[in-house]
Amino acid sequence: MNRKPLNQTDPETAKAVNGELEREEYGLELIPSENYASKAVLEALGSIFTNKYAEGYPGKRYYGGCQFVDQVETLAIERAKKLFGVAHVNVQPHSGASANLGVYCALLNPGDTLMGMSLAHGGHLSHGAAVSVTGKWFKSIQYGVNQETELIDYDQVEDLAKKHKPKLIVCGASAYSRFIDFKRFREIANSINAILMADIAHPAGLVATGLFPSPVPYCDFVTSTTHKTLRGPSGGMIMCTAEQAKALDKAIFPGLQGKPHAHVLAAKAVAFYEDLQPEFKSYCEQIIKNAKTFAAALAKESFRIVSGGTDSHLFLIDLTDKGFSGKDAEEALGRADITVNKNTIPRETRSPFITSGIRIGTPAITTRGMKEPEMNIIAGWVADVLKDINNVQRQKEIGHEVRKLCEKFPLYL
Ligand SMILES: *Cc1c(COP(=O)(O)O)cnc(C)c1O
Repeated sequence: MNRKPLNQTDPETAKAVNGELEREEYGLELIPSENYASKAVLEALGSIFTNKYAEGYPGKRYYGGCQFVDQVETLAIERAKKLFGVAHVNVQPHSGASANLGVYCALLNPGDTLMGMSLAHGGHLSHGAAVSVTGKWFKSIQYGVNQETELIDYDQVEDLAKKHKPKLIVCGASAYSRFIDFKRFREIANSINAILMADIAHPAGLVATGLFPSPVPYCDFVTSTTHKTLRGPSGGMIMCTAEQAKALDKAIFPGLQGKPHAHVLAAKAVAFYEDLQPEFKSYCEQIIKNAKTFAAALAKESFRIVSGGTDSHLFLIDLTDKGFSGKDAEEALGRADITVNKNTIPRETRSPFITSGIRIGTPAITTRGMKEPEMNIIAGWVADVLKDINNVQRQKEIGHEVRKLCEKFPLYL
C-alpha cells in the first residue's frame, strides 16, 4: 500500500489543498452557508471509515464488519435527537439537497404537487426550482416574500395552498434573514391536509440552541445540512416523527442512496457532540450579535439592508441604487480577500449570475472568535471597497489589513 503522505504522492493536489488552507486562514469568509469544521471533526472525516461499506442501518446491515460503523452512526443519531428534541433522525443523507429529495421520495410520486419558496426570494433549488429535478418531477408551486415588507407573504402562501392543494409544503430558506412562523405554516398545511416539511439547512445551529424558532413541534419532517451553522462535515440529515420513521429510512436507503459515508457519519457524531456543549450556545449567540452589529454598521454607511435587518446569522444588502451589481461587489471584495456571494433580492431586475445584492453571514468569522469590534472594522472595509469599487489599489491595501486581522484570530495554523 502507498504509505507516502499527500505532498509526496501527489504534489499538484497537495498544492491546491495548501492554497485553500491559506485562503481560509488569511481571508475573511462571509458566505453564510460556510463555516470552519474543528480539527476533531476533520480528523474523523479523514479517518479509515471512508473504506467501509455499511448499507442499511445500525444493527440491520447488508455487510459484515459493521460493529464500529454502528457505534458512530448510533452516536450521531442519539446526539442529533438530543440536540433537536426529535423522535427519529436519519443521518445518512449526503447533502442538504439529498435530504430534501429523501423526504420527497418518501412521500410523493412524480407529478404530485409540491410548494416551496422561490429561489429568487430566498428559497433553495431543491424546493421546486424549475432547473432542479424537484421542479421537473413534481408540479411545483412557488411562494415568495411581500415586496414591501420583504417578509414571507403568509397570505400568499395560504392563497396558493388553497388554490393548488399541494401534497407537501416546504418552509425554510437560504437567503432569508428573519424568523419563520412555523405555526402559521402548520395552520395552512392543516387547512388543506398537506404534509409540512421545514428545511433548516441554514439556521440549524441557532434552532438547536433555542435562538431561532424550532419547527420541530409543527412539522412532519425537518431537514438540514450539517456543515452550515451546525459546523460539522459536509452532509445532510432528516428528522421526523416516530410514525414517519420507517417510510423515511426506506426512502434514503434503498430508495435514494447506497453506501452511507461512514467517515462522514463519524464526523457528524463529533460535530453533534460539540453542538451539545454550552460553548456552542455562546457561539450561536455571538453569531447573531455579530450579524446585527455588521448589518447596522453597513446601514449607517447608507447601504440598504433587505427587510431592514436580521434575526439570524445572515443578511442581504440591496445594491440597486449603487450603480454596480452583486457580481461586481463580489469581485471587488474578493480582491480584498473578503469572500461574499452575490444574491438576488426581492425586487430583482438582473439575472441570478449578475444580481443586485450580496449576502453576508457571520458563522465563519464568529468561529474565529471575532466579536462586535471586529464586525465594525470589517463592515468599514466592506463599505470602503464598495464606495470606490474600481479602486484596486485600495482593495489590495485592505487585503493586507484583512490578513493582519486574521492572524490575530488563527484557525488551523
Ligand atoms: C444549503 C441549503 C441546502 C443544500 O445543501 P447542500 O448540502 O448544498 O445540498 C438545502 N436547503 C437549504 C435551505 C439550503 O440553504
